[in-house]
Order: sequence, then structure tokens, then C-alpha cells
Amino acid sequence: MLSVRDAQTTIFNLVQPLQHPQDTEIVDLSSVNRILAIPITSQLDFPHWDNSAMDGYAVRYADVQQASSEQPTILEIVEEIPAGYQPQLTIQSGQAARIFTGAVMPKGADTVVMQEETRRENNQVAILCVPKPQEFVRHQASYYQAGNQLLPAGIRLNAPEIAVLAAAQCPQVSVYRKPKVAILSTGNELVMPTQPLKPGQIVDSNQYALAALVRQMGAEPLMMGIIADDKEALQQAIAHSITNADIVLSSGGVSVGEYDYVEQIITSLKGTIHIRAVAMKPGKPLTFATFDHSQRPVLYFGLPGNPVSALVTFWRFVQPAIAKFSGLVDGWQPQFINGMATQELRGVGKRETYLWGKLNLVDGVYKFQLAGGGHSSGNLINLAQTNALAVIPVGEKLITAGNSVKVLKVGN
Ligand code: AMP
Ligand code: MG
Repeated sequence: MLSVRDAQTTIFNLVQPLQHPQDTEIVDLSSVNRILAIPITSQLDFPHWDNSAMDGYAVRYADVQQASSEQPTILEIVEEIPAGYQPQLTIQSGQAARIFTGAVMPKGADTVVMQEETRRENNQVAILCVPKPQEFVRHQASYYQAGNQLLPAGIRLNAPEIAVLAAAQCPQVSVYRKPKVAILSTGNELVMPTQPLKPGQIVDSNQYALAALVRQMGAEPLMMGIIADDKEALQQAIAHSITNADIVLSSGGVSVGEYDYVEQIITSLKGTIHIRAVAMKPGKPLTFATFDHSQRPVLYFGLPGNPVSALVTFWRFVQPAIAKFSGLVDGWQPQFINGMATQELRGVGKRETYLWGKLNLVDGVYKFQLAGGGHSSGNLINLAQTNALAVIPVGEKLITAGNSVKVLKVGN
């Protein structure tokens, strides 16, 4: 049985990320959650031209160095410059232009005096205090110079990056294709959510939970359905999955029961099994294998069938593996934070224990609260609203209230 740390090293090292150019496609700016495949450069300076950061008056600094509220400097207003307007005049000594936020600075002027420091008198303005030289002028190219790298490859495109791309007039960008993740559920007892339940049957919730997680990550789930505990059927489904997906997730069938065929099938399909069990609770029967494929190995995760175990092992291992695979350069690793236990947290000692619950930021402290109603890996009901897993290390059995606890943030 591998430690969680060794299992993570084994898995993450075997992930070969998507590559440019063979794994890329062009998308427009309506696409979110995609990973940029090549760095972006813009031909535009930011700002595009010197402009005003305030509503006020564009002046020559040399003209207003003596200004005060007792002895204001009086300037003649020669032009009004709203946003979007190209100034026509050059400001001469003794002159000013009325200017608004974002409007182009007129030639000759070098400083903006904010409206609140002035008094308007018909076509003249009284300047009531001395501004700083070049105050409230946003200079051309001071944020970004045309030709430099604007965005690096390997970052996720969310609202801020999409704003940058739009502003830089890059309406189409090259991103990595979505990783294809096949999801199959094994078990004679499983039915679809729409089917009436017969005695002994339960609903295949894992298929939907895993597909939701895969979608949230910007990957594409391939729902392979429910596969009976039948060796041929399962072998066919797994064979189909490994030829059509980059990553395969099965749930169930990885324990040591008589109907647990996954391991035998992986071997007969010439997969290499790297992990058979991990010293964690829940999630001990996690199986991890790779299948050789033309470009890169297909990753196979045999997740335990228990709904909680399936989700915990997904969050702990599969999520970072998909994120790394998808081309993300930074931040794909699991992110742990230091939280505070709000009640007793119990571990099993021999295995790393994952407890699910809620993390709340209270007065600057992340407080972890255990989900109520029994911490059984078969209890998926109290999993709802989980946003964090508390991690109790091997060798520890108890973290008392008020003490610090390592926490893995999960979900959105
Ligand atoms: P297994 O790993 O196949 O022995 O399954 C362990 C437990 O998880 C059993 O109680 C199964 O009924 C349950 N289970 C397996 N697969 C699923 C699934 N797709 N959705 C919900 N529960 C499942
Ligand atoms: Mg089963």
C-alpha cells in the first residue's frame, strides 16, 4: 500500500500534458475556462495614448506652479475634450482644456488638475492649488508596450484574461483542446436516476458527480454509462474508453470482492498497474494504471465505488492530474491551507484520514466544520455543500477543537 505522498508522485509524474501545436484549437472570447496554448502579444500600447485619469483641466505644469486658493492661477479654456474625442488644439501658456476621465491629453498640456481643485468662471478656470508634475496623466504604454508578451502560455482563461484579450484586439486565441475523460460506473446494483428502484438497487450517482467535476475543470466528460459486473462487458467498456479518451475514470469494482474485475481487465488489456491501494481513508482501493498509446499514455483511475471515496480520491488525485494534463503550467497541484478545527477531528492513525465539511473564513481564520450526520464513506447525503477536506496525518488520531489542521479546498 502506497502512502498518499508516493501515490501522488507516481500519478503526477506519469501525466504528460497536452502539447502545442498538435493538441490545440482556435476559440473566440466566448470560451471560458480554457488553457492558453501560446503566449499572446499585442500590437497595441496600453494606454493607447496619453489620457486623463480624472475629470478636470489639462494644463501646462509650468503655468500653475504658483497657484493657491488665495491667489489662483487663471487659465483660458480653449477646448473641451470628452472621452472618444481627438483634441484639435495645442495648449499654449496661459491656456487649459476641459478634460474628462479617459479622454486624450491635448498637445502642450502635461498635467491634469482635478475638477475639485478648480473654480470655473465662464471660459476661464481658476486653479486653486499646485498639482504634482504630470499628475493624473496615464501615459501611453505605461501599462504595456506593444510587442511584449501580454499573456503567457499555460494559463486559464477566465474573466480577467478575457478582458485583456478583448482589449488587446485578440478575438481568437489558440488553446489546448479539452481533455476527454471517460466515466464508467460498474455494478449490478446500479440504475439510472430515472429508473424505478427494485429491491437491492441504488442509483449510479458517481457518473453524474464525476461528470460535473470534469466539466467544472473545463474537460469533456464521455459518459460511458453503467456496466454490469460482467467481465466481458466491463472489458469491452474499458477497451472502448481507453481508445476514445485521454483519461478514464471507473468507479467500483476495485475492491477485493469476487465481482471486482477491474485489475484483471487492466492486465489483460496490457495496461501497467502502478497503484493498487493507497494508505488513506476513505479511498484505500484506488487503482491507477497507464495504457500505452500513440502520443502519450492514457491514464486510468479505478476509483472506489463508495460515493464519498470516489469524490475524495477525485479531488485528491484526479483533479490535479486533469489540471496538469490540460496544459496548466502553475497551480495544478493540490492547494492545502492551514485551518482551525472547530470541533474534535478523529483520524484512523494508520492511514491519512480525509474528513469532509465546510471551511469558513471567520475574522481572518479558516475554520473547518465537519459535515454533520456520520462520517461514513457510504453516506453521500452529508457530502452536500462540502467545500473542504480536513487531512489528519498518518500517526495522528485526534485534533482537538481550536488546533490547526491541514485543509484541502475543493469545489468552487
Ligand atoms: P464497490 O467498490 O464496487 O465494491 O462499491 C462499493 C460501494 O459503493 C457499494 O455499496 C456500491 O453499491 C457503491 N457504489 C458503487 N458504484 C456506485 C455508483 N456509481 N454510484 C453510487 N454508489 C456506488
Ligand atoms: Mg461493485
